[in-house]
Amino acid sequence: MTKIAPYWQNYIDGAWVDGGAGRIAVTDPATGQMIAEQALADARDVDLAVQAAQACHSGGALRHMRPIERGRLVQAMGQYLLKHKDEIAHVLTIEQGKPLWESHIEIEGAALYFEYYGNQASTVEGRSIPLGGGYFDWTEHEPFGVSAQIIPWNYPVEMTARSLSAALATGNACVIKSPELTPLTNAWFARAAIAVGLPKGAVNVICGLGHEAGNALASHPQVNQIVFTGSVPTGIAIATAAAQNVVPSILELGGKSAAIVHQDADLDAFENDIRWGIFFNAGQVCSAMSRVIVHESRADELTERAAAVARSLSVGPGIDRTEFGPNMGAMVSTSQRDRALSMIARATDQGGQIAAGGHQTNQPGAFLEPTVLANITPDIEIASQEVFGPVLSILTFKSDAEAIQIANSTDYGLVAGVFTNDLDRATRAARSLRAGQVFVNEWYAGGVETPFGGFGKSGYGREKGREALWNYVQTKNIAIKLGG
Ligand code: NAD
Repeated sequence: MTKIAPYWQNYIDGAWVDGGAGRIAVTDPATGQMIAEQALADARDVDLAVQAAQACHSGGALRHMRPIERGRLVQAMGQYLLKHKDEIAHVLTIEQGKPLWESHIEIEGAALYFEYYGNQASTVEGRSIPLGGGYFDWTEHEPFGVSAQIIPWNYPVEMTARSLSAALATGNACVIKSPELTPLTNAWFARAAIAVGLPKGAVNVICGLGHEAGNALASHPQVNQIVFTGSVPTGIAIATAAAQNVVPSILELGGKSAAIVHQDADLDAFENDIRWGIFFNAGQVCSAMSRVIVHESRADELTERAAAVARSLSVGPGIDRTEFGPNMGAMVSTSQRDRALSMIARATDQGGQIAAGGHQTNQPGAFLEPTVLANITPDIEIASQEVFGPVLSILTFKSDAEAIQIANSTDYGLVAGVFTNDLDRATRAARSLRAGQVFVNEWYAGGVETPFGGFGKSGYGREKGREALWNYVQTKNIAIKLGG
């Protein structure tokens, strides 16, 4: 087993540095033991990182590089992650709690972003606009300059990869604020930047507390664009800071996403959607299938199947769970686990019934049994509040209209699903669902190529796909009055 270094520094302007705010202990959620210390940035460190990125941008080393060459460097970043997959996966599992095989999937997913956006660096083309014989006019897409990226703890590697790859491909210099619960694996982005030879200041990686370093970064006057994934209250704080400086932000703020399961749905296949939709990463997924809205005629059968899926998963330390299979790791922290437990308790007080799980497991660490709650009605708090844990709520419907109405009844609108063999019904539902992405007959259908982002309080802007590239560039129009 790889030994984890006892102390990890921040990376600013091409150098590894201590933090002005001292250090934070990083804990293994499966054991509660401290695994390492991470340097904590203060507002001055944030300023140095932003200055370094701004200098990289103004110097032109990144933005004036031929895009196909910049794209090659971006792709090489992904290859670097794959080359170091085993050691990154080990650290990711120890700091975040997920099974080792899930960590491998996360790093492969991260590498895919660099491959995908690296490939597209040379495709961000402008157009020529006809203005008659006396003019020549064209548009160009320029990078914003300094892209600030504030990262959550649930997928620290993949979330950084998602924004960093697209931002670098389009020529932005980046400041990453890694999550204080899971900061260690973000060090590999700095190492990758060094290894592939990106210009100094193009990638800066700092960890710091949200209200201190995060706030200093979001409100820094020389930041030109902000990407944030996390909770709604923090998203509002960041959008407010961005508004003060009149810079754009992309917000990805979670959800309470619903699968509508019709009478004719294939429930054998749907068991797989339950397994992945709510128990992958212990349910700590913004686009988790946290609600199932099933036709009343099949509610009992579906509840039994969901409970059986939940009971089939062995729960324990992710580091022992090396092979793809029916198992789940720890949640990220005991406070997140206890928050989920209190939401389950309130749901049962309000009339919900536990069909499976519902308790912490009988071992140290932040473990929660995979949980299925039946008899949930839309008025019960858990039907509209994000748990961010392995907790599935089952609701029922009588008519298609009622199913859509329940699905659309939360403030969120990230993703949604429809399960039926009737294509007309699925298409009508897809058009009526208030969500940025709709899955038909497979939860998580899609990939790095398909645009992802929310309606409503799930946020705005799109990540993934071609759409994401346009978040990282601004359009310039150039018109020439021809002489003669
Ligand atoms: P959070 O929103 O507080 O933190 C996310 C990131 O924002 C971290 O890097 C944090 O340091 C930073 N941050 C916090 N306050 C900040 C501020 N004032 N200014 C700038 N940056 C700031 O989320 P959390 O406390 O880690 O988790 C709380 C809840 O958020 C979870 O229960 C879950 O519902 C939600 N969440 C959602 C996602 C998602 O993918 N949508 C990811 C993580 C958490």
